[in-house]
Amino acid sequence: MIKNLTCIECPKGCHLTIEVEKDYVINVNGNQCEKGESYARSEVEDPVRLLTSSVLTKGLALKMVPVRTDKPVPRDRIFEAMDAIRKIRLCKRVKAGDAIAANFLDLNVNLIVTRDAS
Ligand code: SF4
Repeated sequence: MIKNLTCIECPKGCHLTIEVEKDYVINVNGNQCEKGESYARSEVEDPVRLLTSSVLTKGLALKMVPVRTDKPVPRDRIFEAMDAIRKIRLCKRVKAGDAIAANFLDLNVNLIVTRDAS
């Protein structure tokens, strides 16, 4: 199978043509440097995303507080993670960088707030 992707590792945005067999990369064309091949392998074989969202608060001045994971999350767990984030109600004061869910969903990432809230 051939997959086409645009490399987002730098502003050049090389168009990658990736030969894939059984979910593994066999060959990459179109990349102008090594990063393009790494990007293609990561996207095909182990796609991950930093997750950013907001959580609702209860009893705080701010109604919602922005959050993100401190490390990338496997792409196939993103919807599960978003569902879990929707259920969170933040009830205590926090400072930017505080973890509100350590080892979030056993993904080996922390969910952290990205601004102060009181
Ligand atoms: S392959 Fe290399 S040069 Fe091309 S967009 Fe990716 S990082 Fe940039």
